Amino acid sequence: MRSLEKLSYSYSLSDWRQGYESQPQESEYIIDNIEGEIPVDLSGTLYRNGPGLLEIYDTPLQHPFDGDGMICSFSFDNGQCFFRNRFVKTREYIEEHKAGKMLYRGVFGSQKPGGWLANLFDIRVKNIANTNVIYWGNKLLALWEAAQPYSLNPENLETIGLDNLEGTLQQEDVFSAHPRIDRQSLFNHGKPSLVNFGIKPGLSSTITVYEFDELGKIIDRYSHITKGFSFIHDFVITPNYCIFFQNPTTYNPLPFIFGLRGAGECVNFESNKPTKIILIPRNTPHDQIITLEVEAGFIFHHSNAFEVNNTEIIIDSICYSQLSQIDPKSSYKEVDFDKLAPGQLWRFKLNLTTKQVIKELINPRCVEFPSINSENVGRNYRYIFIGASDHPTKNAPLQALLKLDLITKQEQLYSFAPKGFTGEPVFIPKKNPESEDDGWVLTLVYDSTYHRSDLVIFDGKNISQPIATLHLKQHIPYGLHGSWKEKNN
Ligand code: FE
Repeated sequence: MRSLEKLSYSYSLSDWRQGYESQPQESEYIIDNIEGEIPVDLSGTLYRNGPGLLEIYDTPLQHPFDGDGMICSFSFDNGQCFFRNRFVKTREYIEEHKAGKMLYRGVFGSQKPGGWLANLFDIRVKNIANTNVIYWGNKLLALWEAAQPYSLNPENLETIGLDNLEGTLQQEDVFSAHPRIDRQSLFNHGKPSLVNFGIKPGLSSTITVYEFDELGKIIDRYSHITKGFSFIHDFVITPNYCIFFQNPTTYNPLPFIFGLRGAGECVNFESNKPTKIILIPRNTPHDQIITLEVEAGFIFHHSNAFEVNNTEIIIDSICYSQLSQIDPKSSYKEVDFDKLAPGQLWRFKLNLTTKQVIKELINPRCVEFPSINSENVGRNYRYIFIGASDHPTKNAPLQALLKLDLITKQEQLYSFAPKGFTGEPVFIPKKNPESEDDGWVLTLVYDSTYHRSDLVIFDGKNISQPIATLHLKQHIPYGLHGSWKEKNN
Protein backbone atom coordinates (compact mmCIF):
# COMPACT_ATOMS: atom_id res chain seq x y z
CA MET A 1 0.00 0.00 0.00
CA ARG A 2 2.78 2.30 1.03
CA SER A 3 4.61 2.11 -2.31
CA LEU A 4 1.39 2.73 -4.25
CA GLU A 5 0.78 5.78 -2.15
CA LYS A 6 4.29 7.03 -2.87
CA LEU A 7 3.58 6.75 -6.59
CA SER A 8 0.63 9.06 -6.25
CA TYR A 9 2.81 11.84 -4.89
CA SER A 10 2.90 15.02 -6.90
CA TYR A 11 6.62 15.64 -6.44
CA SER A 12 9.97 13.99 -6.00
CA LEU A 13 12.19 15.02 -3.10
CA SER A 14 15.20 15.29 -5.43
CA ASP A 15 13.34 17.78 -7.66
CA TRP A 16 12.30 19.80 -4.62
CA ARG A 17 15.84 19.71 -3.18
CA GLN A 18 17.36 21.28 -6.33
CA GLY A 19 15.48 24.48 -5.54
CA TYR A 20 17.74 24.88 -2.50
CA GLU A 21 20.90 25.11 -4.57
CA SER A 22 22.75 28.39 -3.91
CA GLN A 23 22.60 31.19 -6.46
CA PRO A 24 25.90 33.07 -6.06
CA GLN A 25 25.54 34.95 -9.37
CA GLU A 26 24.25 38.53 -9.38
CA SER A 27 22.50 39.35 -12.69
CA GLU A 28 20.44 41.99 -14.44
CA TYR A 29 18.61 41.78 -17.76
CA ILE A 30 15.33 42.36 -19.56
CA ILE A 31 13.35 39.13 -19.45
CA ASP A 32 12.82 38.13 -23.08
CA ASN A 33 11.65 34.52 -22.72
CA ILE A 34 7.94 35.03 -22.08
CA GLU A 35 4.81 32.96 -22.66
CA GLY A 36 1.67 35.10 -22.85
CA GLU A 37 1.77 38.87 -22.45
CA ILE A 38 2.67 41.13 -19.57
CA PRO A 39 -0.28 43.49 -18.86
CA VAL A 40 0.73 47.00 -20.00
CA ASP A 41 -0.97 48.61 -17.02
CA LEU A 42 1.13 46.56 -14.56
CA SER A 43 3.60 49.28 -13.63
CA GLY A 44 5.95 49.11 -10.67
CA THR A 45 8.43 46.79 -8.98
CA LEU A 46 8.03 43.48 -7.20
CA TYR A 47 10.78 43.06 -4.59
CA ARG A 48 11.46 39.65 -3.07
CA ASN A 49 13.85 38.46 -0.37
CA GLY A 50 15.13 35.02 0.62
CA PRO A 51 18.29 33.03 1.30
CA GLY A 52 20.59 33.14 -1.74
CA LEU A 53 23.47 31.08 -0.35
CA LEU A 54 22.86 27.70 1.27
CA GLU A 55 26.47 27.19 2.24
CA ILE A 56 29.24 29.55 3.32
CA TYR A 57 32.20 28.48 1.24
CA ASP A 58 32.54 24.75 2.06
CA THR A 59 30.29 24.75 5.11
CA PRO A 60 26.68 23.74 4.34
CA LEU A 61 23.95 25.46 6.33
CA GLN A 62 21.91 23.39 8.73
CA HIS A 63 18.76 25.31 7.79
CA PRO A 64 17.87 27.54 4.80
CA PHE A 65 16.64 30.27 7.18
CA ASP A 66 20.34 30.84 8.01
CA GLY A 67 21.16 31.81 4.39
CA ASP A 68 22.36 35.30 3.44
CA GLY A 69 19.56 37.49 2.09
CA MET A 70 19.37 37.97 -1.67
CA ILE A 71 16.97 40.55 -3.08
CA CYS A 72 15.31 40.08 -6.48
CA SER A 73 13.53 42.93 -8.22
CA PHE A 74 11.13 42.61 -11.15
CA SER A 75 10.45 46.08 -12.59
CA PHE A 76 7.44 46.34 -14.91
CA ASP A 77 6.96 49.12 -17.41
CA ASN A 78 4.93 49.19 -20.59
CA GLY A 79 4.64 45.41 -20.97
CA GLN A 80 8.31 44.72 -20.26
CA CYS A 81 10.06 43.34 -17.17
CA PHE A 82 13.61 44.04 -16.00
CA PHE A 83 15.11 41.52 -13.55
CA ARG A 84 17.91 42.15 -11.06
CA ASN A 85 19.27 40.23 -8.06
CA ARG A 86 21.75 41.43 -5.41
CA PHE A 87 22.91 40.09 -2.07
CA VAL A 88 22.37 42.30 0.96
CA LYS A 89 25.98 43.21 1.76
CA THR A 90 25.70 43.09 5.53
CA ARG A 91 28.79 43.71 7.65
CA GLU A 92 28.96 39.97 8.41
CA TYR A 93 28.53 38.99 4.73
CA ILE A 94 31.48 41.22 3.79
CA GLU A 95 33.64 39.87 6.64
CA GLU A 96 32.99 36.25 5.63
CA HIS A 97 33.70 36.90 1.98
CA LYS A 98 36.96 38.66 2.85
CA ALA A 99 37.97 35.73 5.07
CA GLY A 100 36.81 33.13 2.55
CA LYS A 101 35.18 31.06 5.28
CA MET A 102 32.25 30.91 7.68
CA LEU A 103 32.79 33.17 10.68
CA TYR A 104 29.33 33.19 12.28
CA ARG A 105 26.95 30.53 13.54
CA GLY A 106 23.35 30.64 12.30
CA VAL A 107 20.35 31.02 14.57
CA PHE A 108 18.70 27.92 13.04
CA GLY A 109 21.56 25.54 13.80
CA SER A 110 24.29 26.22 11.24
CA GLN A 111 27.57 25.74 13.08
CA LYS A 112 31.04 26.94 12.25
CA PRO A 113 33.35 24.11 11.19
CA GLY A 114 35.47 22.59 13.97
CA GLY A 115 32.77 21.04 16.17
CA TRP A 116 31.39 22.31 19.45
CA LEU A 117 34.74 23.70 20.60
CA ALA A 118 34.81 26.13 17.68
CA ASN A 119 31.29 27.30 18.57
CA LEU A 120 31.63 27.35 22.38
CA PHE A 121 30.45 30.65 23.97
CA ASP A 122 30.08 32.29 20.54
CA ILE A 123 26.64 33.87 20.96
CA ARG A 124 27.10 36.61 18.37
CA VAL A 125 24.13 36.96 16.03
CA LYS A 126 24.74 37.36 12.31
CA ASN A 127 22.29 39.77 10.66
CA ILE A 128 21.37 37.91 7.48
CA ALA A 129 18.66 40.37 6.33
CA ASN A 130 16.90 37.57 4.45
CA THR A 131 13.19 37.55 5.34
CA ASN A 132 11.30 40.43 3.77
CA VAL A 133 11.81 43.62 1.77
CA ILE A 134 9.54 46.67 1.91
CA TYR A 135 9.47 50.17 0.50
CA TRP A 136 8.32 52.73 3.06
CA GLY A 137 9.12 56.37 3.76
CA ASN A 138 11.29 56.64 0.62
CA LYS A 139 13.47 53.72 1.74
CA LEU A 140 13.86 50.14 0.56
CA LEU A 141 14.49 48.01 3.66
CA ALA A 142 15.65 44.38 3.91
CA LEU A 143 14.23 42.89 7.11
CA TRP A 144 15.25 40.09 9.48
CA GLU A 145 13.42 39.77 12.78
CA ALA A 146 16.39 39.51 15.16
CA ALA A 147 18.18 42.69 14.06
CA GLN A 148 17.76 46.12 12.52
CA PRO A 149 16.89 46.66 8.85
CA TYR A 150 19.37 47.18 6.04
CA SER A 151 18.66 50.04 3.68
CA LEU A 152 19.09 49.41 -0.06
CA ASN A 153 19.07 51.56 -3.17
CA PRO A 154 15.58 50.88 -4.64
CA GLU A 155 16.87 51.36 -8.20
CA ASN A 156 19.97 49.14 -8.30
CA LEU A 157 19.62 47.17 -5.00
CA GLU A 158 23.09 48.20 -3.79
CA THR A 159 23.37 48.03 0.00
CA ILE A 160 23.44 51.42 1.75
CA GLY A 161 23.81 50.13 5.32
CA LEU A 162 22.14 49.42 8.64
CA ASP A 163 19.24 51.79 9.22
CA ASN A 164 17.91 52.76 12.65
CA LEU A 165 14.90 54.55 11.10
CA GLU A 166 15.90 58.12 11.92
CA GLY A 167 17.06 57.17 15.40
CA THR A 168 13.84 55.30 16.28
CA LEU A 169 15.67 52.03 16.93
CA GLN A 170 18.14 52.10 19.81
CA GLN A 171 21.22 49.87 19.98
CA GLU A 172 19.43 46.73 21.27
CA ASP A 173 16.12 47.22 19.43
CA VAL A 174 15.10 44.76 16.71
CA PHE A 175 12.55 45.20 13.93
CA SER A 176 10.41 42.26 12.78
CA ALA A 177 10.15 41.12 9.17
CA HIS A 178 6.33 41.36 9.20
CA PRO A 179 5.18 44.97 9.17
CA ARG A 180 1.52 45.67 8.39
CA ILE A 181 0.29 48.69 6.49
CA ASP A 182 -2.90 50.33 7.74
CA ARG A 183 -4.28 52.18 4.70
CA GLN A 184 -6.46 54.50 6.79
CA SER A 185 -4.90 54.81 10.21
CA LEU A 186 -7.01 56.38 12.96
CA PHE A 187 -3.70 57.56 14.39
CA ASN A 188 -2.42 59.24 11.23
CA HIS A 189 -5.46 61.37 10.27
CA GLY A 190 -6.90 58.55 8.12
CA LYS A 191 -3.72 58.35 6.05
CA PRO A 192 -1.55 55.22 5.60
CA SER A 193 0.75 54.11 8.38
CA LEU A 194 3.23 51.29 8.79
CA VAL A 195 2.92 49.28 11.99
CA ASN A 196 5.64 46.86 13.06
CA PHE A 197 7.06 45.30 16.22
CA GLY A 198 10.22 43.94 17.80
CA ILE A 199 10.54 41.16 20.37
CA LYS A 200 13.09 40.90 23.15
CA PRO A 201 12.60 37.32 24.36
CA GLY A 202 13.64 36.08 27.78
CA LEU A 203 12.05 34.72 30.97
CA SER A 204 9.64 37.58 30.28
CA SER A 205 9.41 38.99 26.77
CA THR A 206 9.03 42.60 25.72
CA ILE A 207 6.89 43.35 22.68
CA THR A 208 7.53 46.85 21.32
CA VAL A 209 5.19 48.30 18.68
CA TYR A 210 6.26 51.05 16.26
CA GLU A 211 3.83 53.13 14.17
CA PHE A 212 5.18 55.31 11.34
CA ASP A 213 3.50 57.88 9.12
CA GLU A 214 3.66 57.74 5.31
CA LEU A 215 6.99 59.61 5.30
CA GLY A 216 8.61 57.12 7.69
CA LYS A 217 8.40 59.43 10.72
CA ILE A 218 7.62 57.72 14.02
CA ILE A 219 4.09 58.45 15.30
CA ASP A 220 4.00 56.21 18.34
CA ARG A 221 6.07 53.59 20.15
CA TYR A 222 4.75 51.45 23.00
CA SER A 223 5.77 48.26 24.79
CA HIS A 224 4.17 45.41 26.68
CA ILE A 225 5.93 42.81 28.81
CA THR A 226 4.45 39.31 28.70
CA LYS A 227 5.42 36.45 31.00
CA GLY A 228 7.44 33.64 29.49
CA PHE A 229 9.54 33.12 26.38
CA SER A 230 8.10 34.38 23.07
CA PHE A 231 8.76 33.17 19.56
CA ILE A 232 6.48 35.57 17.68
CA HIS A 233 7.20 35.84 13.95
CA ASP A 234 4.12 37.72 12.70
CA PHE A 235 1.21 39.74 14.06
CA VAL A 236 -2.04 41.29 12.85
CA ILE A 237 -3.62 44.70 13.20
CA THR A 238 -7.15 46.05 13.24
CA PRO A 239 -8.03 49.76 13.35
CA ASN A 240 -7.83 49.63 17.17
CA TYR A 241 -5.54 46.72 18.11
CA CYS A 242 -2.20 45.05 17.49
CA ILE A 243 -2.69 41.31 18.07
CA PHE A 244 0.02 38.79 18.97
CA PHE A 245 -0.20 35.01 19.39
CA GLN A 246 2.26 33.90 22.06
CA ASN A 247 2.63 30.21 21.26
CA PRO A 248 3.56 27.98 24.20
CA THR A 249 7.32 27.63 23.95
CA THR A 250 10.23 27.46 26.33
CA TYR A 251 13.87 28.17 25.66
CA ASN A 252 16.94 26.46 27.12
CA PRO A 253 19.98 28.42 25.93
CA LEU A 254 22.64 26.10 27.36
CA PRO A 255 23.17 23.84 24.29
CA PHE A 256 23.54 27.05 22.24
CA ILE A 257 26.00 28.67 24.63
CA PHE A 258 28.03 25.45 24.81
CA GLY A 259 28.33 25.26 21.05
CA LEU A 260 26.19 22.16 20.61
CA ARG A 261 23.07 23.57 18.94
CA GLY A 262 21.79 26.68 17.20
CA ALA A 263 19.60 29.06 19.18
CA GLY A 264 16.55 28.04 17.11
CA GLU A 265 17.15 24.40 18.04
CA CYS A 266 16.79 25.28 21.74
CA VAL A 267 13.12 26.35 21.45
CA ASN A 268 10.71 23.72 22.81
CA PHE A 269 7.03 23.65 21.93
CA GLU A 270 4.74 22.79 24.84
CA SER A 271 1.74 21.21 23.16
CA ASN A 272 -0.17 20.75 26.44
CA LYS A 273 -0.27 24.48 27.13
CA PRO A 274 -2.57 27.11 25.59
CA THR A 275 -1.54 29.91 23.26
CA LYS A 276 -1.96 33.41 24.67
CA ILE A 277 -3.65 35.93 22.36
CA ILE A 278 -2.49 39.40 23.38
CA LEU A 279 -4.41 42.47 22.17
CA ILE A 280 -2.55 45.74 22.63
CA PRO A 281 -4.68 48.88 22.08
CA ARG A 282 -3.24 51.17 19.40
CA ASN A 283 -4.89 54.11 21.13
CA THR A 284 -3.73 55.45 24.48
CA PRO A 285 -3.68 54.16 27.16
CA HIS A 286 -1.75 51.30 25.56
CA ASP A 287 -1.70 49.33 28.80
CA GLN A 288 -5.39 48.32 28.60
CA ILE A 289 -4.22 44.89 27.39
CA ILE A 290 -6.70 42.10 26.69
CA THR A 291 -5.37 38.54 26.98
CA LEU A 292 -7.30 35.47 25.83
CA GLU A 293 -6.32 31.81 25.66
CA VAL A 294 -6.85 29.15 22.99
CA GLU A 295 -5.49 25.80 21.84
CA ALA A 296 -3.81 27.17 18.74
CA GLY A 297 -0.85 24.97 17.93
CA PHE A 298 1.99 26.93 16.38
CA ILE A 299 1.58 29.93 14.08
CA PHE A 300 4.19 31.57 11.88
CA HIS A 301 1.91 33.65 9.65
CA HIS A 302 -1.47 35.28 9.87
CA SER A 303 -3.66 36.21 6.90
CA ASN A 304 -5.65 39.10 8.37
CA ALA A 305 -7.80 40.33 11.26
CA PHE A 306 -10.84 42.58 11.53
CA GLU A 307 -13.30 43.95 14.06
CA VAL A 308 -16.91 42.85 13.61
CA ASN A 309 -18.26 45.23 16.24
CA ASN A 310 -16.97 46.47 19.56
CA THR A 311 -17.02 42.99 21.01
CA GLU A 312 -15.82 40.57 18.34
CA ILE A 313 -12.56 40.21 16.44
CA ILE A 314 -11.86 37.69 13.67
CA ILE A 315 -8.33 36.46 12.94
CA ASP A 316 -7.34 34.08 10.12
CA SER A 317 -4.04 32.25 10.60
CA ILE A 318 -2.02 29.31 9.32
CA CYS A 319 -1.73 26.86 12.21
CA TYR A 320 0.47 23.82 12.75
CA SER A 321 -0.46 21.25 15.40
CA GLN A 322 3.09 21.64 16.67
CA LEU A 323 6.33 23.45 16.00
CA SER A 324 8.57 21.12 14.04
CA GLN A 325 11.72 20.69 16.07
CA ILE A 326 14.91 20.97 14.06
CA ASP A 327 16.93 17.75 14.32
CA PRO A 328 20.59 18.77 14.70
CA LYS A 329 21.70 15.45 13.21
CA SER A 330 19.81 15.59 9.91
CA SER A 331 19.82 17.94 6.93
CA TYR A 332 16.71 19.89 5.99
CA LYS A 333 17.24 18.45 2.51
CA GLU A 334 16.26 14.99 3.82
CA VAL A 335 12.98 16.19 5.33
CA ASP A 336 10.15 13.64 5.40
CA PHE A 337 7.09 15.77 4.65
CA ASP A 338 4.80 12.93 5.82
CA LYS A 339 6.16 13.18 9.33
CA LEU A 340 5.46 16.89 9.71
CA ALA A 341 2.16 18.56 10.57
CA PRO A 342 0.67 20.54 7.66
CA GLY A 343 -0.01 24.25 8.03
CA GLN A 344 -3.76 24.84 7.61
CA LEU A 345 -5.91 27.95 7.49
CA TRP A 346 -8.00 28.47 10.64
CA ARG A 347 -10.35 31.23 11.74
CA PHE A 348 -10.33 32.47 15.35
CA LYS A 349 -13.42 34.29 16.63
CA LEU A 350 -12.59 36.33 19.72
CA ASN A 351 -15.45 37.43 21.93
CA LEU A 352 -14.04 40.32 23.95
CA THR A 353 -16.99 40.31 26.38
CA THR A 354 -17.05 36.63 27.33
CA LYS A 355 -13.31 36.15 26.60
CA GLN A 356 -14.26 33.05 24.61
CA VAL A 357 -12.32 32.05 21.51
CA ILE A 358 -13.85 29.81 18.86
CA LYS A 359 -11.49 28.14 16.37
CA GLU A 360 -12.76 26.85 13.01
CA LEU A 361 -10.92 25.16 10.15
CA ILE A 362 -11.39 27.17 6.95
CA ASN A 363 -9.69 24.72 4.59
CA PRO A 364 -7.84 21.42 5.16
CA ARG A 365 -5.22 21.91 2.42
CA CYS A 366 -1.57 22.42 3.40
CA VAL A 367 -0.89 26.13 2.84
CA GLU A 368 1.60 28.89 3.67
CA PHE A 369 2.39 32.51 2.78
CA PRO A 370 -1.01 34.26 2.48
CA SER A 371 -1.50 37.42 0.44
CA ILE A 372 -4.55 39.69 0.45
CA ASN A 373 -5.60 42.95 -1.15
CA SER A 374 -3.53 45.55 0.73
CA GLU A 375 -6.58 47.86 1.00
CA ASN A 376 -8.24 45.29 3.30
CA VAL A 377 -5.46 44.86 5.87
CA GLY A 378 -7.13 45.04 9.30
CA ARG A 379 -10.58 45.19 7.73
CA ASN A 380 -13.24 42.71 6.65
CA TYR A 381 -12.14 40.92 3.49
CA ARG A 382 -13.22 38.22 1.11
CA TYR A 383 -10.25 36.76 -0.78
CA ILE A 384 -6.99 35.06 0.17
CA PHE A 385 -4.29 34.07 -2.33
CA ILE A 386 -1.87 31.56 -0.84
CA GLY A 387 0.86 29.00 -1.66
CA ALA A 388 -0.62 25.49 -1.44
CA SER A 389 0.21 21.81 -1.78
CA ASP A 390 -1.03 19.89 -4.80
CA HIS A 391 -2.59 17.23 -2.56
CA PRO A 392 -5.86 18.38 -0.90
CA THR A 393 -4.94 17.37 2.67
CA LYS A 394 -1.42 15.93 3.02
CA ASN A 395 1.62 17.82 4.20
CA ALA A 396 3.76 18.45 1.12
CA PRO A 397 5.89 21.15 -0.52
CA LEU A 398 4.01 24.15 -1.91
CA GLN A 399 3.35 23.52 -5.61
CA ALA A 400 0.20 25.50 -6.30
CA LEU A 401 -1.55 28.84 -6.03
CA LEU A 402 -4.85 28.70 -4.16
CA LYS A 403 -7.54 31.39 -4.17
CA LEU A 404 -10.09 31.18 -1.38
CA ASP A 405 -13.41 33.02 -1.26
CA LEU A 406 -14.19 33.39 2.45
CA ILE A 407 -17.86 34.19 1.80
CA THR A 408 -18.88 31.43 -0.63
CA LYS A 409 -16.09 29.05 0.58
CA GLN A 410 -15.30 28.42 -3.08
CA GLU A 411 -11.71 27.66 -3.95
CA GLN A 412 -9.73 27.85 -7.16
CA LEU A 413 -6.37 26.10 -7.54
CA TYR A 414 -3.66 26.30 -10.16
CA SER A 415 -1.01 23.61 -9.65
CA PHE A 416 2.53 23.54 -11.02
CA ALA A 417 3.00 19.91 -9.94
CA PRO A 418 4.85 17.67 -10.46
CA LYS A 419 7.90 19.73 -11.48
CA GLY A 420 7.06 23.23 -10.21
CA PHE A 421 7.38 24.55 -6.64
CA THR A 422 5.82 27.77 -5.38
CA GLY A 423 6.07 30.16 -2.45
CA GLU A 424 4.41 33.42 -1.43
CA PRO A 425 2.11 35.06 -3.99
CA VAL A 426 1.77 38.84 -4.02
CA PHE A 427 -1.61 40.39 -4.90
CA ILE A 428 -1.45 43.74 -6.71
CA PRO A 429 -4.73 45.68 -6.91
CA LYS A 430 -5.56 47.44 -10.19
CA LYS A 431 -6.15 51.17 -10.23
CA ASN A 432 -9.88 51.89 -9.83
CA PRO A 433 -10.72 48.22 -9.19
CA GLU A 434 -14.22 46.80 -9.71
CA SER A 435 -13.89 44.30 -6.86
CA GLU A 436 -11.51 43.12 -4.13
CA ASP A 437 -9.95 40.49 -6.44
CA ASP A 438 -9.59 42.89 -9.39
CA GLY A 439 -5.83 42.82 -9.76
CA TRP A 440 -2.88 40.59 -10.55
CA VAL A 441 -1.27 37.80 -8.59
CA LEU A 442 2.45 37.35 -9.06
CA THR A 443 4.22 34.22 -7.86
CA LEU A 444 7.77 32.96 -8.33
CA VAL A 445 7.87 29.29 -9.32
CA TYR A 446 10.92 27.01 -9.29
CA ASP A 447 10.80 24.74 -12.37
CA SER A 448 12.90 21.67 -11.59
CA THR A 449 12.72 20.45 -15.21
CA TYR A 450 14.92 23.32 -16.40
CA HIS A 451 16.46 24.24 -13.01
CA ARG A 452 15.27 27.82 -13.41
CA SER A 453 12.63 30.06 -11.90
CA ASP A 454 9.59 31.62 -13.57
CA LEU A 455 7.66 34.67 -12.49
CA VAL A 456 4.04 33.78 -13.20
CA ILE A 457 1.29 36.41 -13.52
CA PHE A 458 -2.37 35.56 -12.92
CA ASP A 459 -5.56 37.59 -13.19
CA GLY A 460 -6.83 37.77 -9.60
CA LYS A 461 -10.45 37.28 -10.71
CA ASN A 462 -9.71 33.94 -12.36
CA ILE A 463 -6.55 31.95 -11.68
CA SER A 464 -7.49 28.98 -13.90
CA GLN A 465 -4.59 29.84 -16.27
CA PRO A 466 -1.60 32.21 -16.04
CA ILE A 467 -1.77 35.30 -18.23
CA ALA A 468 2.03 35.41 -18.55
CA THR A 469 4.98 33.21 -17.58
CA LEU A 470 8.34 34.99 -17.50
CA HIS A 471 11.23 32.50 -17.72
CA LEU A 472 14.37 33.65 -15.89
CA LYS A 473 17.80 32.59 -17.13
CA GLN A 474 18.64 31.07 -13.74
CA HIS A 475 17.00 29.66 -10.63
CA ILE A 476 16.24 31.65 -7.49
CA PRO A 477 16.45 29.53 -4.31
CA TYR A 478 13.09 29.24 -2.50
CA GLY A 479 12.41 32.66 -1.00
CA LEU A 480 10.44 34.06 1.89
CA HIS A 481 8.57 37.35 1.55
CA GLY A 482 8.27 40.32 -0.76
CA SER A 483 6.18 43.34 -1.63
CA TRP A 484 5.06 45.57 -4.47
CA LYS A 485 5.96 49.21 -5.07
CA GLU A 486 3.84 51.18 -7.51
CA LYS A 487 5.75 53.22 -10.07
CA ASN A 488 6.26 56.86 -9.01
CA ASN A 489 5.19 56.03 -5.52
FE1 FE B 1 7.50 35.12 7.62
